[in-house]
Amino acid sequence: MSTKPVILKLGGSVITRKEKPSTANLKAIKRLADEISSAKVAPLVVVHGGGSFAHPLAKRYAIKEGYKNKASQAFGFALTHQGMVALNKLVVDALIKHKLPAVAVSPSSCIVTKSGRIHTIMEEPLKKLLQMRFVPVLYGDAVLDSDLGFTILSGDQLIAYLAMRLNAERIIVGIDVDGLYTADPKTNSSAKLVSHITIEELKGMQQQIEEAKVPDVTGGMLGKIAELIPSIEKGITALIVNATKPKNVYKALKGEKVTGTLIEKG
Ligand code: ADP
Repeated sequence: MSTKPVILKLGGSVITRKEKPSTANLKAIKRLADEISSAKVAPLVVVHGGGSFAHPLAKRYAIKEGYKNKASQAFGFALTHQGMVALNKLVVDALIKHKLPAVAVSPSSCIVTKSGRIHTIMEEPLKKLLQMRFVPVLYGDAVLDSDLGFTILSGDQLIAYLAMRLNAERIIVGIDVDGLYTADPKTNSSAKLVSHITIEELKGMQQQIEEAKVPDVTGGMLGKIAELIPSIEKGITALIVNATKPKNVYKALKGEKVTGTLIEKG
């Protein structure tokens, strides 16, 4: 059995109902717990997004922008974090029900960012949990920031960072569409699925958008994927799959053929 962990991200778009505040998609959470348990992959780290449990609150209290000395913002930070704790409990409960030794690890208690980027992490408990074959379950969270006071740490930044720090074998990202498309597939019927992309191609796309040569037709998806660049440069591949479709996460974990976007060093 490999000692290199697999990092699995469950998108907020999959495990919550994005249009309804603080509403979980319990059916999806249960099915995914079953798939993760059946795949029997170890060591494994699960990271999930916030979807409707965090985004509306984080936006209302402008948590990402940092602490601007408004008392209400501190309350908003607490509410946003607590929203994530509530969603995390549903995920961890489901994994435990499916006989996995899942243990919640709260990013706000072990990570401090600096201007939005992970700066310090207390990783000893995480490493120990993995050595002992627990399944740590982390999430995008409201975290303390040494420059901003506090901010939002995205699940996407977290998976890339953990993959590098924990010397991961690979990353699997579950979202609610089949992978990276040439445009948002929900609003553009001519969007095409990109089934394979190298780091050079990804950087090229990013640069063109940054230099405003072409508009960002990826609807921000490229920004999410760009977080993965440092880990992919280290040789850790990332596979994006549609986690709303049954068996996709199972197949991805097992290394079986599955529709999606494979991102490799090249
Ligand atoms: P999550 O919270 O699950 O990580 P997001 O909702 O932030 O995911 O991002 C996934 C969404 O991004 C998809 O539902 C899709 O509508 C949208 N999207 C926009 N542009 C693209 C694209 N080029 N390829 C794939 N998805 C895209």
